[in-house]
This record gives sequence, C-alpha cells and structure tokens, in this order.
Amino acid sequence: MSQGRGVVIKSERELALMREAGKINAQALVAAVSIIRDGVSTADVDGAAAEVLRVHGAESAFLGYPGPYPYPAVTTVSVNDELVHGIPGKRRLKEGDIVSIDCGAIFEGFVADSAITVGVGEISPEAQRLIDVTQQALFECIDKMRIGNRTGDLSAAVQMYVEANGFNVVREYTSHGVGRNMHEDPQVPNYGKAGRGLPIRAGMTIALEPMVLTGEPDTRVLPDQWTVASRDGQLTAHFEHSVAATLNGPWILTTLDKNLDEERLIRYNQYFAGRVSPAVAKGVDTDEGIIFGP
Ligand code: MG
Ligand code: MG
Repeated sequence: MSQGRGVVIKSERELALMREAGKINAQALVAAVSIIRDGVSTADVDGAAAEVLRVHGAESAFLGYPGPYPYPAVTTVSVNDELVHGIPGKRRLKEGDIVSIDCGAIFEGFVADSAITVGVGEISPEAQRLIDVTQQALFECIDKMRIGNRTGDLSAAVQMYVEANGFNVVREYTSHGVGRNMHEDPQVPNYGKAGRGLPIRAGMTIALEPMVLTGEPDTRVLPDQWTVASRDGQLTAHFEHSVAATLNGPWILTTLDKNLDEERLIRYNQYFAGRVSPAVAKGVDTDEGIIFGP
C-alpha cells in the first residue's frame, strides 16, 4: 500500500517548531481550565486561552476557520451533550457540567491542536467515568503511534477501549494529520480495524482525538451551524493531543513545557497526564517509550 499523497512528513526542525506551538497550546488550555467554575461564561474561558496565545505571539488556528461562516473564537467550548465546535458566548457554566475545550495555536508557521474535558465543581460519577475513559482512550491511541503500525491500529485502539467501557465513539469526525495546516492527511477515524490503513512513518504528525458519547453515536449540528451535539442529548467528552511518530516512539507535542513552575506542573499532572505514569507528570520518558517533553 502506498503512503497517502497528502501526508506531510516533518523534519526534526519542523517537529521542534511544532513542539513549541504545542507548549503554547497546552498553556492556553491550562489557563482556560483554571478559571472554570460555577457562573463563569464560556466566553471567559475562551478569553483566558486567547490571552495565552497573544502573550506568546501565537495566532489562533480556529479564529476565522472556514465553515458555514468563519469560526468566531479562539477555542471551542462544548458543554455536556455538546461534543465539539461549541461557540463560546454568554452561556454560564454551572456546577455539575462537563466542559470540553479545544484550542489550536499557530507558532512559526506550525499548528498545535489539543483538547481536554473537565468537570465544573462536583460532577456525577457517570460524567467522571466518561471523562476518565475518554482520556485513557487517547493514551491507548497514542501508544499505537509507532513506526511499523498502521493508522487502523490507532482507530481500533480508541474504539476497543471506549466500547469495552460501554460508551460509543463518534462516526462523523476524525483524528487528522496536523502541521502547517490544522487539517492534513491522513484522516483517522475513531473506529476501525487494526492492521489496516497507512503505515506510520517517522515524522508523521497526527492530532489524535477520541470523541466519546455515553449514548448512541449519532450527532446533530445545532442551529448556530457549528456546534456538534449528541442527537440523543446524552453526555459527551473529547480529548486531543498532537503527536509525532519518531524513531524513539510517540512524541506528544502538546504537553506543557516541563520547565514550568511547580504549580503549573501540578495542573499538568491533573489535566494532561492521564493515568499513564506518575513519571509523566514530570515530563520524563516512560518505560512505555512515550516521549513527554522536553
Ligand atoms: Mg482540536
Ligand atoms: Mg483536531
């Protein structure tokens, strides 16, 4: 099988630039998450992320993105049944909500794309389990981002983990190549068969993003023409990292800079490390060979 024509292999120098973009994007998500509480508007959440991009001289990959009309914000903030592409605005978060924040930063010409789902205050055990399963599905997927595997291995890892936990994966939206453009080839569905698809090569960069529904996998687009929600109104969650395949294993490009101060690393531990390993929180390599940092 030949490599897809549109897949862009990145050089080491290009990966280093993508890593810089990824650090900024991670900080933007942490800033957004850190203000979330009962009563805060989704526009405020967006503003917190936008400020981080501005301070670092990064541009938004989302603002003005073509669609039914140019996307009007720096993040997407999707609440409860909203899965992706929620437009930030006057809506106020309330205790018990779960919120998915997706952000894209452009730095030195390269895009970083990552997302996270968190609860507002106390959330239901079911909502917490959804968040945990979706986050772990991302790490199951990242672990397959290895030379010699195929994109179908990424898809199968997400689907198998999510469905084994009694939830469903989205059908209409996919993980995707990322680089100078936010959406490059290949498209990688959240479902599929191991061993199929394109071979994973060193320098491939994919924004891996499990999108998970507690109910039926069907979605609908809300009247604002951007927001995608579950058709049945059940809770959804979304996690995403931009990840490179390297000779040494998967390299997560969108974790925080490990040289950040302790307070930020604690948040990193809480929101980005998942359940892979405590060592991950410090930005060091793990015995699974997933590269976090530098
Ligand atoms: Mg994204
Ligand atoms: Mg994406």
